[in-house]
Amino acid sequence: MHPPPKLDLSMSPLGISLLMLVAFAGFFWLAWRKLAIVAALQPEVRWDRPGARLKRVFVHGLLQSRMIFGDPKPGLMHCVIFLGFVALLARKVQLIVIGYREPFTYPGLAGGLFAGAKDFVELAVLAAVGYAFWRRFVVKPVRLEANREAVLILALIAAIMVTDLLFDGFRFALLASGDPGIAHERSYAVVGGALAALFGGWSESALLAGYHAFYWLQLLAVFGFLVLLPLGEHFHIVTGVPGLFFAKPGPLNRVPSVDLERVMNAADGEEMKVGVRTARDLVWKDAFDAFTCTECGRCKEACPTFLTGKPLALKWVHDSVKRHLMEHRETIVAGPPPPGTEDPLPALVGGVIGEDTLWACTTCGYCETACPIELEHLGKFYRMRQHRVMMEGAFPHELKGVFEAYEVQSNPWGLAADTRGAWAAALGVPVVRSADEVEKLDYLFYVGSAESFDPRGQKIATAFARILQQAGVKFGILGAAETSTGECVRRAGNEMLFQQLAQALVGTLNGLGVTRIVTCDPHAFNSLKNEYPEFGGRYEVIHHTQLIARLVAEGRLTLRPQFERVIYHEPCYLGRHNGEYEAPRAVIRRLTQGLPLEFDLSRGKAMCCGAGGARMWMEESIGTRINVKRVEQALPHAPKIIATACPYCAVMMTDGVAALGKDGAIETRDLAELVAAAMVNGAGAGSQGSSAQDRSPAG
Ligand code: SF4
Ligand code: SF4
Repeated sequence: MHPPPKLDLSMSPLGISLLMLVAFAGFFWLAWRKLAIVAALQPEVRWDRPGARLKRVFVHGLLQSRMIFGDPKPGLMHCVIFLGFVALLARKVQLIVIGYREPFTYPGLAGGLFAGAKDFVELAVLAAVGYAFWRRFVVKPVRLEANREAVLILALIAAIMVTDLLFDGFRFALLASGDPGIAHERSYAVVGGALAALFGGWSESALLAGYHAFYWLQLLAVFGFLVLLPLGEHFHIVTGVPGLFFAKPGPLNRVPSVDLERVMNAADGEEMKVGVRTARDLVWKDAFDAFTCTECGRCKEACPTFLTGKPLALKWVHDSVKRHLMEHRETIVAGPPPPGTEDPLPALVGGVIGEDTLWACTTCGYCETACPIELEHLGKFYRMRQHRVMMEGAFPHELKGVFEAYEVQSNPWGLAADTRGAWAAALGVPVVRSADEVEKLDYLFYVGSAESFDPRGQKIATAFARILQQAGVKFGILGAAETSTGECVRRAGNEMLFQQLAQALVGTLNGLGVTRIVTCDPHAFNSLKNEYPEFGGRYEVIHHTQLIARLVAEGRLTLRPQFERVIYHEPCYLGRHNGEYEAPRAVIRRLTQGLPLEFDLSRGKAMCCGAGGARMWMEESIGTRINVKRVEQALPHAPKIIATACPYCAVMMTDGVAALGKDGAIETRDLAELVAAAMVNGAGAGSQGSSAQDRSPAG
């Protein structure tokens, strides 16, 4: 034991003051360099509905729910480091006070408990850092790229933990015998106490040297860490939680609308602006997201473009945008050039975002739902596509014919619009023409282009019509009066054409007093449900799998479990974009012997078939084909049937099966086709209209 020391324990108040001054000045200056760019970009309100936003901050930020459930092991690792970081802030305050006045301890039982808990937190953080190194250098998951900054930051975190434990060891050995407060801390601090016992025989000068050395080493690491934060990806420690507060509300796949009236009526000399051309046209949250990206790579894990070798992953988009913003920082912060002069900022598409990158996206939304801090992707890509299409007329050549076909015939093939209902002629499906007829329906069946014109789709529509007839659901179609929702052209950036199509369809539906719609097409489902309210179309919209599941549950349809080895491919616009994962599975369970099979990438992690975002109509010349990759993912499960619930998925999966030479062994069937084949006759009310009862809508 050492006698009470007569030592100069001063840590240099001047030194600590200067260190803090330099570190905080550096931190704020570097942070402002980025935040000034954010402040210079386009405004957008991201603070409405504060209650819902705070809830998201709590669940996804403080509880780290997406981080943990998305990928549990690394999620837990991050959670330990994050909570350790928060918990140890109180310790750093203590160390700063020690710099001015030693001895300083947190008083009472709380102080002792804190000293004890701190040691365990530091050990847990060290274990988490060790796991992070092991993952990065031994496991090497595909989503992680080589990253020197991440290694440096992990090393700094480990250094902060180790130096703090060693500082405690020296401090306890040197001072605990003469200071009751420090002795109290020592009695709780298991690791610090053990280290103090280890150093117990050392000379006073050696203890003093260790005490000072590990104090300053630790503070240099802490304040070095602070200055490094705004320089790279670890800026997310500052911006991640606010970013969750500012994340976009509402449906995931909402295309930013364009006020066409304002654009068309732009005054003389006023620039006609649509979408995003340069970085200046981005909204502030786009830049905030680019600076917040943690580079964790989770957005790649089921991204169809990344998995098939195309030049698109959300992480890479953020890398490119971030670099571009910093390179052109001064020009952006200086604001737009005077009217009549050319903006020196280069266009984003073609340089920062490659043309192939822009058009590769299937808009499946996986990246956004996988991102633990809800960084966004689709909004800025839609706006870039809008600018390319509407302002520059520059888009993949295959889309030209598609746009023209929609303009003239309201379908992508340009087939005669008045033959839209021909598929149903022999089925006895009523075509409704008046509000009186519509009023008597349970549902209007919105068929959509794929199922009206494409022979593959027509089979699905036919099967569904038979199901509705079997279950006694009163339904009708619009026939030749039906027009396209325009979903596909909207995602291709042709907002003008989309709005024309949307207004025409809303006019028809509202004119007939339609209130309830069922459709087999998840893209139409998404548009009618989530996008049409903006154009005055407010309907109860239901997907055919949801209606079938209800009819089965209500006993209006009875199914034979006659199929084997059925695997369900999830349509993104039904699952991820609208949260419907259960209804299709509930139906499949009634159709199969044994449990349905599941892709490894299923539900929220399901990989797109490759047709979304108007990709259905574009050639796929880079990397492997997405539909082939998706079918390959099914093969280890040895399916006999790939079931799906979207006419585009059905085509893509059928082609993928054929490309792999499996067409004799694996069938692709829409759920409606399976149900129609497995219906037990007489379970429902018979053919449509045979029931005298005026049924209310199913469910
Ligand atoms: S929306 Fe889908 S295809 Fe596009 S970048 Fe995200 S995950 Fe990839
Ligand atoms: S966008 Fe999100 S998921 Fe992708 S690397 Fe950045 S933080 Fe990770």
